[in-house]
Amino acid sequence: MTETNTAPVNYWNSPLKGKKALVVGVANDRSIAWSIAQQLAALGAEVGFTYQGENLERRVRPLAESLGSTMLLSLDVTNESAIDAVVATLKDKWGKCDILIHSVAFAERSDLEGRFVDTPLSGFQKALEVSCYSLVSLSRKIEPLMVDGGSIITLSYLGANRVVKNYNVMGVAKAALEASVRYLACDLGPKKIRVNSVSAGPVKTLAAAGIKNFKEMLSSNEARTLLGENISQDDVGAYAAFLCTPGGAHVTGQNVFVDSGQSVAQL
Ligand code: NAP
Repeated sequence: MTETNTAPVNYWNSPLKGKKALVVGVANDRSIAWSIAQQLAALGAEVGFTYQGENLERRVRPLAESLGSTMLLSLDVTNESAIDAVVATLKDKWGKCDILIHSVAFAERSDLEGRFVDTPLSGFQKALEVSCYSLVSLSRKIEPLMVDGGSIITLSYLGANRVVKNYNVMGVAKAALEASVRYLACDLGPKKIRVNSVSAGPVKTLAAAGIKNFKEMLSSNEARTLLGENISQDDVGAYAAFLCTPGGAHVTGQNVFVDSGQSVAQL
């Protein structure tokens, strides 16, 4: 019998060592982006952070420092020149970027209740600009830094695919976001840059608090999942980080659910 030498690649021993990851969207220690950042660091990546405004800097700085990160940059994702400045700093200090985590969304509170049909143009544009177009502009501007290929991940929600009470314009923004993921994956695929979205079940965060009756939604949600339990930020963090490892090497253009099976259930 001939002996074969087919030892599997070890994906799990610091698979992200030497990788540089920019995480956009940490507001505090309950943010999904913070869980993703922690997991990326645990897998060996060097992580940089952005924050929006001085208030958030106060909260994000200690978190970044706890991971030994010295890359902490101000960024409003609707400001194109601010994105340019972030990319220039990454180029200067890191010379490249391997991973981009886009964990940002916004809609006016008044547009997250009542009837979707009443959404004003200004609210519609704002939600789409912050929650969807920012992924397009960040991807375009960071593309030249992804010299060894890369992984771009954004966050979505089931309200993109189904009507979820009060999610309204954010559901439309998430649908556009998921479609953008597919088109970006097509454009960036030849450079071995993968683009995916993780559709997370509901978790209590600052952004979620803006959705009317979110607390009630969370408590009634468990019974509507196949696993009978809600997810946590860390569940999303672990899965998103996995997608950035060689284990996710051929996953692109996808929307993957981390939702205890809610998306396939009719319970
Ligand atoms: P979060 O902690 O409040 O994070 C949202 C982040 O977006 C905040 O850091 C926020 O900063 C930032 N942001 C908003 N507008 C911005 C702008 N113009 N420029 C830069 N940053 C901006 O809430 P999260 O729940 O973790 O949300 C992260 C992502 O997960 C979002 O895309 C959300 O839709 C998605 N998601 C959440 C859930 C859930 O149930 N929580 C479920 C599925 C998907 P500010 O605080 O300064 O606005």
